[in-house]
Amino acid sequence: MNTHSRMIAPGELEALDTIVIGAGLGGLGAAAKLIEGGRDKLIVLEAENKVGGVWRENRYPNVACDTPIDLYAYSFYPGDKWSSNFAPGNEILAYLHEFADRFGVTPKIVFGARVAEAVWDDAKALWRVASTDGRTWMGRYLVWSGGLFSQPTLPKIKGLEGFTGESIHTTEWHDGIDLTGKRVAVVGGGATSIQVVPYAAEHAKELTVFVRTPSYVLPRPDINFGAKDRMSPDFALQQKARRTEWFNRFEIIARSRFPMNGPVIAEQEAVWKEQFDNQVHDPHAREVLTPNYRFGCKRPLFSSAYYPALEQDNVTLVGRGVSHLAGDTIVDVEGDAYPVDMVIWATGFEPSGMLGGLVIRGRDGRELEDEWRAIPHAYFGTMVEGFPNFFLINGPNAGGASVTDVVEAQVGFILANMVEADTRGASIVEVDEQTYRLFNEDIQVRADASVMVRGNCNSYYRVGGTGKVFTHWPDTVEAFQQRIRSHAPSGVVFRTAEAGR
Ligand SMILES: Cc1cc2nc3c(=O)[nH]c(=O)nc-3n(C[C@H](O)[C@H](O)[C@H](O)COP(=O)(O)OP(=O)(O)OC[C@H]3O[C@@H](n4cnc5c(N)ncnc54)[C@H](O)[C@@H]3O)c2cc1C
Repeated sequence: MNTHSRMIAPGELEALDTIVIGAGLGGLGAAAKLIEGGRDKLIVLEAENKVGGVWRENRYPNVACDTPIDLYAYSFYPGDKWSSNFAPGNEILAYLHEFADRFGVTPKIVFGARVAEAVWDDAKALWRVASTDGRTWMGRYLVWSGGLFSQPTLPKIKGLEGFTGESIHTTEWHDGIDLTGKRVAVVGGGATSIQVVPYAAEHAKELTVFVRTPSYVLPRPDINFGAKDRMSPDFALQQKARRTEWFNRFEIIARSRFPMNGPVIAEQEAVWKEQFDNQVHDPHAREVLTPNYRFGCKRPLFSSAYYPALEQDNVTLVGRGVSHLAGDTIVDVEGDAYPVDMVIWATGFEPSGMLGGLVIRGRDGRELEDEWRAIPHAYFGTMVEGFPNFFLINGPNAGGASVTDVVEAQVGFILANMVEADTRGASIVEVDEQTYRLFNEDIQVRADASVMVRGNCNSYYRVGGTGKVFTHWPDTVEAFQQRIRSHAPSGVVFRTAEAGR
């Protein structure tokens, strides 16, 4: 329901405190905490007609969180309806709807408002925001939470248009799709593929899986929750304990990544090897599925069903990339052709295209996309030099194991800046230029020393797959939480519009 658009007529300019872009997990969390902090003169502009972000867009079979829900749900709202600790996507989507209602965010959302442009007005210290359909808004602060995984990657290969079968990216999956009796190909060996492959192996007549680069797939320690578990008075306490346990487990992985720590990485590789040896017996499959890079270089994954699915009789595993499509065949880079009725592209997303064409113009007309052309950068993933009163949720180099820990820390910082500006009577909040430069130099020194760069792989963590790391905070999440609280404020400058720069 488009409640707020009834309150603001198209074209009418109402000066808001904050305009949030995006009603995914990040935008909803930010709006909830701003409202809770008394800053409820805000709106959330959402391009689509429902909340949920990636959980609205990804409806493929077995879609689930891959950091356990105890860690992935907000710490201040852990949810009480989960059927499993690796919660299915539809439950996460329902949680986000419930979250938006519970924290008073729903009435603040303008659905169907895809932001095309946001322009900073330095004289008035305001952001002017316009949607693709010509509606406009003004806000003192702009918070972007458009998501890193909203731009699907489809390989640019020949023959897609003339392909006689069905071809879908996993984000295009819908309830009408039936694999029964079909010859299906799944392309990809990453996070989406390991979730969709067990389903496809079970339902398709024949399944061909193309894995150019295999993942480290660790055992998934599933816990299923029945109604009795959820109603137990201890449920909330158990959730909290599991949250801490998983937080610590992922911190070990973070420590092994930044800087690259061979012995700790080897311990994680041993956990992978144990499951691999137990589940993968076929010599060809063992060859195809053994990573030739170090653990942590790419996203580590959890599944206990992926390797067994690949060993089913109806499954062919191809350890090569796809070259092109021709008629009803999918052809690999060696020229071998496989007749198929359907291709499922589990080829992921392009985080460096996160702005998705959105134009954000800061001081002196500087455009964010231009600033980010070589590499996206930010201050604690939250502020960008030259873009006053602008904050990012899940921005560059902020990623950790679970986004909610990061979002909670970011929103705390954003809110503290807004409060400080009010206290000082300042209308402009921005990051100091020199602090910004030194901060980002340090980020890259740390990232260069990580397994993400030194571990012998290409990944979406890096610009163009092989360049600088722009997705991750190159340290532990605890360090992010501590530093954004205690260190980040020293790099923030407060001014009044009249005082100039
Ligand atoms: C299948 C899948 C599983 C994942 N599992 C995990 C996990 O287990 N743990 C984890 O930590 N992370 C996971 N992630 C990463 C995930 O992106 C984050 O967890 C989380 O969704 C980020 O929330 P967000 O609000 O930043 O972005 P999103 O969820 O992408 O939401 C962004 C929202 O902004 C809207 N939007 C974008 N541009 C505009 C615009 N110009 N104008 C208006 N609205 C706009 C979009 O429509 C969308 O609703 C997963 C991602 C995927 C795709």
